[in-house]
This record gives sequence, structure tokens and C-alpha cells, in this order.
Amino acid sequence: MKYYSTNQKAPIADLRKAVVKGLAEDRGLYMPEEIYKLPKAFFDDMPTMRFQNIAYNVASQFFGDDVDPDCLQDLVYDTLQFDCPVVQVEDNIFSLELFHGPTLAFKDVGARFMARLLQYFINLGSVGGAAQSKGMVNVLVATSGDTGSAVANGFLGVEGIHVYVLYPKGKVSAIQECQFTTLGRNITAIEVDGVFDDCQRLVKSAFMDQQLCQHMMLTSANSINVARFLPQAFYYFNAVAQIARLKGGYQKVVMCVPSGNFGNICAALFGHQMGMPVERFIAANNSNDVFYNYLQTGRYEPKASKQTLANAMDVGDPSNFARIIDLYSKAGQLSAEETHQAITSLISGATYSDEQIKETMRQCYADTKYILDPHGACGYRALKEQLKPGETGVFCETAHPAKFKEKVDEILGIDVQIPERLADFMRGKKQSVPMANDFETFKAYLLSQ
Ligand SMILES: *Cc1c(COP(=O)(O)O)cnc(C)c1O
Repeated sequence: MKYYSTNQKAPIADLRKAVVKGLAEDRGLYMPEEIYKLPKAFFDDMPTMRFQNIAYNVASQFFGDDVDPDCLQDLVYDTLQFDCPVVQVEDNIFSLELFHGPTLAFKDVGARFMARLLQYFINLGSVGGAAQSKGMVNVLVATSGDTGSAVANGFLGVEGIHVYVLYPKGKVSAIQECQFTTLGRNITAIEVDGVFDDCQRLVKSAFMDQQLCQHMMLTSANSINVARFLPQAFYYFNAVAQIARLKGGYQKVVMCVPSGNFGNICAALFGHQMGMPVERFIAANNSNDVFYNYLQTGRYEPKASKQTLANAMDVGDPSNFARIIDLYSKAGQLSAEETHQAITSLISGATYSDEQIKETMRQCYADTKYILDPHGACGYRALKEQLKPGETGVFCETAHPAKFKEKVDEILGIDVQIPERLADFMRGKKQSVPMANDFETFKAYLLSQ
């Protein structure tokens, strides 16, 4: 498979390059040149197939040209060692629980898959130059919480790769912090004396520093990477299969995705292009409403992000917006109006204030006993408001409520149980490297590694 840039001004890349570089030279996002439709026979069988097998079929469409079939199967099976079950919350509303992985949020899927794919290319000997330190690949990732924990756990123990997680001192919840500071081995947590934007600036400066890039092979693991976002399509197919199994046949499914950078919903839309039987989509937002406004007006006006209760969705300029435009403009062939028309005929939006998020969590708990986290609450509410008779609604529950325990306990007046694997992290010993908010200091540190 070849990958082009959404800005159309960079050379075509192969999968290896798209994964190692992440972003194209013209700062565009990589898009696969083809999206193959899955055959009818696959959809006939899908309701009776196991998750890993469904995922392997989907993965083959994207990665089959570039990865040996046995290795790809291994990679998929290794990534999906946990379930993504669909749980009935109301008559026609289902929660797709994406939080049964090691760090209790959906990013575990893409992070693990990317780690294993990068390792596959390293083992082929096709990554990194001799001049760069011992053939090691170094992943730099800035985090405000969720991304760092998923990437650290996804890459834990993967040979040939070292991960540096930069996080803002005192700005990450204790539960999140322990998920990437207690691991050790090939994971180094760097506690920056600054805010999230400072961490991001240090990482970006490192990628642009010639001396550093010659000394060590550097790569990023954020959600724009094709190896991180595409595997998220796996669980959507599996959810549609589960609904079909429960109801004895395919239903008119409406898929509702709480969104921030729009990587997760983008994967679902790629699935739809591959023939996944979903009727329409809803992108649910907190009060960061740039995509919602785009749907209403056709104008995309990024703005500074606002802090909300659903903080993993506090994004004012979603990075995957460019991919959605590229997909529905047929790589720029359609006009802005035609593209907007295509998008609004398939996707609707929703935006909720913190007050509405709290109200929704309380109402759902009172009516159904189901505990929503603030992100999932946006998805559930959008379905409640927009689902039509005859449709079956599925919303992504993107994180376990225990990940946001303090908020959830306070809002619902309960004591959310902490799953054992989260408790394990909390018992671990915190280890981190204190770092001044200064690029020269950070660079000297990396050069000494
Ligand atoms: C990352 C994240 C989101 C947003 O996903 P995008 O792919 O950025 O749209 C939503 N909920 C949780 C819990 C997350 O960690």
C-alpha cells in the first residue's frame, strides 16, 4: 500500500515510512491510496466470527501488502488480548466498552499495534541508520495523561524501542501518572517543570534538531500515526457483529463516538468505506465545538481548547479533521460544498457543557445503574437525543469510569470500584526524571543516553 499526504505536496510513502515518520514532509497526514471493500462472504460470516479473526480480516485489507500474513496475524492477536464487549444499557442503546485493556482506555489498541508494527520493521532491519545509536528507535511522546499511559504500556518490553514520556509536573492525575511512571524497563518518564504545551514544544524541537536526529533515531507515537488510528477500526466491525448476533441479523446501527482529535471516529469511517454495515455516525463533543460548528455552517474555525470534565476531548483543532475532509472530498476532487454535503449526510454532531455531562451521568445511573465516565456520557446523551425509531444505537465508552474516579464519585455520590490492574499500577514505585522546561537541558539529557 502506498500512502499520500493530505497536503498533496510530499512524496508518496510506503507503510514503513508512514509509520516511522508519522507526519509527511509537508506536515500533512498520511492516507492510504486505496481502501479495499471487504467481500460479501466476509459480512455473511462476520456475526459468527471471533474478534481476533474479524480484526485480522480488516487488518489484511490495510496492511496485507506490506506485512507477512503470519506476522500480521500474530500482531493482531497480540494486540487484542482483551475484549471490547457491547453491553446493553437500554432497549436500543448499547455501550461499546473500549476500556478492558491494560490502561483502561481505547488508546491501548492502537498503541500496542503500533509498537508491534514498528518492531516488525526494526526486525526486518529496515529502520534506522548505522550512525544512530545501536539501532535503537526512540519514541518521544508528550502527554496530558491518557496518551502517555497507553503508549508506555503498548511499548513496554518491546525490544529495540525506548520510550520517553514527557508530562507536566503536577498536572496529571495520580491514577494516570502511575500508569507510565511505575513501569521501568524501556520506558522513561520525564517530569517537565511546565504545562502540557511545554512538553509538546520540547518534543517538537527534538524532532527538528539535526544533531539529535543524527545521534539517535527519533519517532513519535501520537494519534495521527496510521499504525495507531487504523487498528481502531477493528472493534467497530466486532461491535456490529455482536449486535447482529444478539438480534439475529444486521440492524440499522448508529455509531456514536465521543471525539477529541477525531482519530477514533476516523477509523470507524474508514471501516464504513470498507463496507461495514453502519447506517450513520454521530460525533459527540464536550463544549469544544469546532467540528459541531463545521457541520452546521460548512466553515472550519479552529480555536483554543477549553478545559472540561471530559478532558481527553479538550481539543480546539482536531488533528484528524484533515483526514475526514480528504476522505469525503475524494482526495480533493470535490468542492468544499460537495464535501460538506457528503459529510453531513453521514455524520451528525452534538456538543455538551460540563453541566449537561453531569446531568447525563446522573440520569443514566438513576435509570439504568450503568456508570458512565464523562466522555462516554457525551456519546450516550447524543444517542438519547438523536436516535430514531427502528435504529440501534451504539456509543463508545472510551474509558473506564475508575480512570476518572474522583469526578465520577463526586458526581454520582458513589465509590467506583478500581479494577485490579489499575490498583497494581498504583502500588508500583514512581520513577521519573525531573526536567527543566528548557530545550538545551532536554537535548543534553537525550545526547547522554
Ligand atoms: C483520546 C480519548 C478520546 C478522544 O479520542 P479521539 O480519537 O482523539 O477523538 C475520548 N475519550 C477518551 C477517554 C480518550 O482517552
